[in-house]
Amino acid sequence: MPAPRATVAVIGGSGFYEFLHDAHEVEVPTPYGDPTAPVAVGDVGGTTVAFLPRHGKGHAFPPHLINYRANLWALRSLGVRQVLAPCAVGGLRDEVAPGDLVVPEQLVDRTYGRAQSYVERGALHVPFADPYCPALSKTVATADGVRLGGTMVVIEGPRFSTRAESQHYAAQGWTLINMTGHPEAVLARELRLCYAPLALVTDMDAGVETGEGVGQEEVFATFARNIDRVKDLLAGVVGALPVPGVGCACASWADGLDLPYELP
Ligand SMILES: [Zn+2]
Repeated sequence: MPAPRATVAVIGGSGFYEFLHDAHEVEVPTPYGDPTAPVAVGDVGGTTVAFLPRHGKGHAFPPHLINYRANLWALRSLGVRQVLAPCAVGGLRDEVAPGDLVVPEQLVDRTYGRAQSYVERGALHVPFADPYCPALSKTVATADGVRLGGTMVVIEGPRFSTRAESQHYAAQGWTLINMTGHPEAVLARELRLCYAPLALVTDMDAGVETGEGVGQEEVFATFARNIDRVKDLLAGVVGALPVPGVGCACASWADGLDLPYELP
């Protein structure tokens, strides 16, 4: 039986399994190994959507050990062209607060040692000045209570930041901090996919002058309290997606270039 096809995908926490109706799980092997879990393909309001739990089933993979290349490759193999990427973030500056939903416009990569490219030979340099799809981001940000803007710094993890690191990031003007936003976004770009993050602020990182600093329980509790809101919002987005390739260059940036990898 051929694998079911989907043109839109959600990469998110395992709480999103209930997002899909009549879901079927598909094993999708890739040249980069297995994705973090089988891809679930199901219906959201009449649209077929693929879902991949970023950390695997039962949160098996910490941020620095996620097979990001296999995850994005597997989705593209099923026909996906647009990726919605909800994630938990810390807030770094007081213009954001726990419970806020933000679509950041910029990214700073502070990870190291992660496989972050499909380019393994030749001289291809991927345009990444604007790391996210502007059309998809705008669509997500039109949802009620979602803000567009700001910069998300992605750290290696799995540890949280020290107070000094957190204050340093905030002093740069960066607003959000997270451990999974890179290399997800750049791999999506390499595969000519539209990609937009949706960041849920779960805590205020370690940047506060007082208090204990961020803890895992706080992050998970805030995420759990807000998951239904995020799911409803994304269901609305799925019903109002822009036409891929209209208002963005995510799919066309490599036209005429000789990619050193063959798109699945
Ligand atoms: Zn796009």
